[in-house]
Amino acid sequence: MKSPCVFVIACTLGSAAARAEIDDAELDAAAASLNARVIEWRRDFHRNPELANREVRTSAKVAEHLRALGLEVRTGIAHTGVVAVVEGKLPGPTLLLRADMDALPVTERTDVPFRSSATGEFRGRTVGVMHACGHDAHTAILMGTAEILAGLRDRLPGKVLLVFQPAEEGVPEGEEGGAPQMLDEGLLAIAKPEAAFSLHVGSSLPTGTVALRSGPLMAGSDFFRIVVTGRQTHGSRPWSGIDPIVAASSIVVAAQTIVSRDLDLTAAPAVVTVGAINGGVRHNIIPAEVEMLGTIRTFSDKDRKEVIERLGSIANGVAAAHGATARLEMSPAPNPVLVNDPALTGTVTESLKRALGADAVRTSTLLTVAEDYAHIAEAVPSVYWWVGVTPASQDPSTAPDNHSDLFYVDEAGIDVGLRSLLHVAVDYLQAPPSR
Ligand SMILES: [Zn+2]
Ligand SMILES: [Zn+2]
Repeated sequence: MKSPCVFVIACTLGSAAARAEIDDAELDAAAASLNARVIEWRRDFHRNPELANREVRTSAKVAEHLRALGLEVRTGIAHTGVVAVVEGKLPGPTLLLRADMDALPVTERTDVPFRSSATGEFRGRTVGVMHACGHDAHTAILMGTAEILAGLRDRLPGKVLLVFQPAEEGVPEGEEGGAPQMLDEGLLAIAKPEAAFSLHVGSSLPTGTVALRSGPLMAGSDFFRIVVTGRQTHGSRPWSGIDPIVAASSIVVAAQTIVSRDLDLTAAPAVVTVGAINGGVRHNIIPAEVEMLGTIRTFSDKDRKEVIERLGSIANGVAAAHGATARLEMSPAPNPVLVNDPALTGTVTESLKRALGADAVRTSTLLTVAEDYAHIAEAVPSVYWWVGVTPASQDPSTAPDNHSDLFYVDEAGIDVGLRSLLHVAVDYLQAPPSR
């Protein structure tokens, strides 16, 4: 009869040899050796930016890279989305990693040698196109992560669903796209992830740092249109018509009381902004109609519902008091609140601290910007973090913001982004938290 002791030792040795754990130093060395190529990819994307749903060249480059890694690649998801799965040889969980690929209608004014001079069409006009939100860096970081993970396949537990997403910044009018369309087209049926991670570079943090928080991180966003209808008349005889400009002005002012008077601001902040008022063509005509465009940012369904309801009743009530009418239209594609799964945020924070140093990991405030990745985070427990890209020589509080024509990415921050994603992913695959 076999000694139980010998059997146990053999088993332990066997499992250790099979797993041959991937350690931190190995990941850092892999990231360091790939760094120059990641920067090269990012500069290439930066020089050749493409607007939402038009990421044709970018997605072709991504697909070519993934195919060269020996991965089976799916293209054309939600127009230009690219998806591939890295299959580890060991059993383990499935993880989703996502990068966005689209650029913005911004004419670049930085003086980097790889500055964009690209143009594109936006709302019927020819516009400059720039990676003013750093999605070029995100795409390059995920390509680098893909290459390193693919190289570790033999010792990697589980699977990684790599998602290169188009149109995070919003789709051209009349089109669909972005994260919700990728989900509609069966993204999570390709491989069912137990967890999802994504990151964003930001100029408000110094290079070397990352920031995240448990629970809500970024706001839910809704876009609205209010049409105020009066009766057109001569500007010199307002009593003979109904002035929608005065009614609209009152609506803008009254709408500010929704946040200041109706919401419990000790629970969470909210924003109601009217960003455009269109009405009238000349000084002496009171027009028939005024259109207002705006955005709502909230951090809970309860607040969202209340703001929309109050906005509608203020628009109707104030317009009626002026003898006018108002119609509130909500955009059909709101972004939900981006929520970081609390338990997962704890384990991710530990990974980030080990990878980058405890001082490098900051707690983010609530952010009133929005992210369409929130749709993925609604479907899969997720963590999303910000990666600083403002060099030490500059004050992050005065650095040009994301979306500025002077937005600048310190390339040392790209390495931090790559290492953060790589460590978080491999830590999760090697030791998934029990849920
Ligand atoms: Zn953006
Ligand atoms: Zn962005």
